[in-house]
Amino acid sequence: MKKLFAIILAAAILLSFTACSSQQESKTEKSGESNRETVYQVALLQSLTQGYYDGIIKVSELKEHGDIGIGTFEGVNGEMIVLDGTVYQALGDGSVQEAADDETVPFSNVTFFDSDVKEEISKIKDINALKDALDKTVEKNGKNMFSFVKISGEFKKMNVRSELKQEKPYKSLDKALATDQREFNYDNIKGTVVALYCLDYMGGLNTPGWHFHFISDDKKKGGHILELAFDSAQAEYDITPEFDMRLSDNSDFQKMELAKDVSGAIKKVETNEE
Ligand SMILES: [Zn+2]
Repeated sequence: MKKLFAIILAAAILLSFTACSSQQESKTEKSGESNRETVYQVALLQSLTQGYYDGIIKVSELKEHGDIGIGTFEGVNGEMIVLDGTVYQALGDGSVQEAADDETVPFSNVTFFDSDVKEEISKIKDINALKDALDKTVEKNGKNMFSFVKISGEFKKMNVRSELKQEKPYKSLDKALATDQREFNYDNIKGTVVALYCLDYMGGLNTPGWHFHFISDDKKKGGHILELAFDSAQAEYDITPEFDMRLSDNSDFQKMELAKDVSGAIKKVETNEE
C-alpha cells in the first residue's frame, strides 16, 4: 500500500512537472478557459501537518488559479476562505480580514467556480449528515472527480476554528493546535460553506473526502468548520476533473519525508477527533 502511494506521489509530481513545462509553452492557452476545470493545490496537507508553514506562493499568484477555495497562510496565521475571487483570512482572534496580496500561502486548494449541479439540502443535524447528503450527489456526479461545493444559507449552528500565528521553529500542526487553536460558536448565522471533495485515492497528497471552511455573509466571521447544523441551504457543485500541484524548491521542504503516513494526525487536526 505504501509502495502504491509512493508510485502515485511520484506520478503526480512528474505530471505536475510536465504540466509546468508545457504550461510555459502554452501559457496563453492555459490561462484561458481550460484552467477553469483544474484544482490547483499548493504543497500537500501532509507537509502542512508536519509543520511546513513557510509561504510558497503569494496570495496574488494564488488568485490567478482560482476564485474559490480553502487553505491557510504563512505560519498558519488563520484559515483561508476564497469566495467570489476574494481571499479572506479568518484569524485566531475570531476576526476576518481580506488577505493582502503579498501575504504568502503554505497550503491551499483553489479552482474557478462554475456551477454544474444545484440542489437544496435540508434538515442537516450535524457535519456527518452533511457529508452523507453531499456524498449522495457526488456519487451521481462522479466520485472520481474533484468537486468544490458552495453551500449558502442560514446556519442554526456553526462551530469553526482558527489558530494563532506560529513562530519558528515550527511545531507539527497537531502540537500547534493543541495550545493555539481557538473555537468560535455561532447561532443562526447567514453565510457560505466552501467545501472541497478530494478523491479517496488522494490520501498521500491531501485528505480524502470533505474539507469545509465557512465565511459569514457580512464577511466578519469564519474559519475551518468543526460542526454545523441547518434546516435548509442551497448547494452548488463544481465538478472538476484536472489537478495541478505547486511544490517548493526550498531546502527545508526538500528534506521532508512526505510519504510518511500522517493520516492519524490529519484526522485529529481536521476534526478534533483522536
Ligand atoms: Zn481547514
